[in-house]
Amino acid sequence: MKYISIIGSTGSIGTQTLDIVRSNKDLCVTALAAGSNIRLLEKQIREFRPKIAAVYNEEKAAQLKDSVKDLDVKIVSGMDGLLEVSTESTCSIVVTAVVGMIGIRPTIAAMKAGKDIALANKETLVTAGHIIMPLAKELGIHIYPVDSEHAAIFQCLQSGKKEDLDSLIITASGGPFRKKTTEELKSVTVEDALKHPNWSMGRKITIDSATLVNKGLEVIEAKWLFNVDFDHIHVVVQPKSIIHSMIQFQDGSVIAQLGTPDMKLPIQYALFYPQHRTLAGERLDFAALKEITFEQPPVDVLKGLPLAYHAGKIGGSMPTVLNAANEKAVTLFLNKKIQFLDIYDIIEDAMEAHKVIENPSLDQVLETEQWVYERIESR
Ligand code: NDP
Ligand code: MG
Repeated sequence: MKYISIIGSTGSIGTQTLDIVRSNKDLCVTALAAGSNIRLLEKQIREFRPKIAAVYNEEKAAQLKDSVKDLDVKIVSGMDGLLEVSTESTCSIVVTAVVGMIGIRPTIAAMKAGKDIALANKETLVTAGHIIMPLAKELGIHIYPVDSEHAAIFQCLQSGKKEDLDSLIITASGGPFRKKTTEELKSVTVEDALKHPNWSMGRKITIDSATLVNKGLEVIEAKWLFNVDFDHIHVVVQPKSIIHSMIQFQDGSVIAQLGTPDMKLPIQYALFYPQHRTLAGERLDFAALKEITFEQPPVDVLKGLPLAYHAGKIGGSMPTVLNAANEKAVTLFLNKKIQFLDIYDIIEDAMEAHKVIENPSLDQVLETEQWVYERIESR
C-alpha cells in the first residue's frame, strides 16, 4: 500500500489524483487540504477517509468540522493546517496540487519530514527552486514532476545518461490566442482567455497558458528540475499537444514523449515511477492523425516567454517578482479589474522596479512576494 497526501485536493489536479486513487487499490489517502471548497472536500473525506483534512479558510474549517463530526477525521486550518497535512506521519508522498506560492512552505515541510513530492505546484519551484532542489539532494527526497512537459522530459531522460544531454525542447500549445495580434488582444475577455484548445485546467493556469506566462514558468521549472541552463532550454509551439516535450542528446538524437492530452498520465507516473501502469483513456490513433505541426512561439505579442527567460537569467529574487506579479495580475484580470494586456505591464513594472536579492532566503522570497503585492495594490 502506498499512502499519499494531497494539498489542493478540490482542484483540477487534485480531483484527477483522486481518480487515480479510485482506480489503483494499492493507493490510500491519509490527508487532504483545500482552500475553501468544503462541499467537495466533505464528499472527498466521506469517500477516501483521510485522517486529517485542512481548509485554509478558518471559518469554512469550522463549518466542515461540524458537518463531519460523525467521522474520525481531524479538521485543521490556516497555514498550520496545510503544514500538518503535508507532514502527516504515515504518508510517503505528497501531491502538491495547490495553486501559487502558498505551496512553498508545505512543500519544504513535507521534504523535511522525509516525504517524496509529486510536484504540480510549479510556482513553488519557480520562486524557491534554489532552496528546494539542494534540500531535496541533501535529504534524499525524490521530486516527481506532474506538469506534463516535465513528466515528458523525465520519461525521455530514462533513455540515456544525463551527462550526454544537450538540451530540453518544451512544447507549447500556444493557447487560445496564438494567432492574435496585439491590437486584437486589447479587447479579449476573461471568457475568451478561459477557452483553452486542448486542456481543461484550473482558472489561473488557463490564463497563464493564454499569456504564455505558463510556458515561461515551465522553462524556469525545468531549469530547476533538470539542472539545465536557460540557453539549453528551447520552446516550440505544437498546437495539438500531442508531443508533450522532447530532449536532445549531444549526438543529435531527439527523444520525444507523445500521448493524448490527459493529466492523469503524468499524475499516475509520478505516483508509481518507474511503472507505466494501465490507465484507461483514449490512445493516439496514428491512422487518424495526419500530421504534427510546429510553429515558433509568438514572443513579440504574447510576452510571457521572454519575460520569464529574462527573470530566470537574472535569477535571485527576480523569478519571485515575475511570479508574484503574475499571480496578482491574473487575479485582477479574472475579477475583470484589468485588461488582458495589462498583465504584461504589471509584470514588467514590478520587474523594473525591483532590486534583486541574490540567493534569497525563504523569508526574503515571501517578503518579495509581499512587496510585489503592495506595489500593485498601491497603483
Ligand atoms: P485549481 O485552481 O483547479 O485548484 C487549486 C487547488 O488549490 C484547489 O484545491 C484549491 O482549493 C486549492 N487552494 C487554493 N488556495 C489554497 C490555500 N490557500 N490553501 C489550501 N489550498 C488552496 O488549480 P489546478 O489544479 O489547475 O493547478 C494546481 C497547480 O498545478 C498549479 O500550480 C498549476 O500551475 C499546476 N498544474 C496544473 C495543471 C492542470 O492540468 N490543471 C497542469 C500542470 C500544472 P479550493 O477548491 O478550496 O479553492
Ligand atoms: Mg504544463
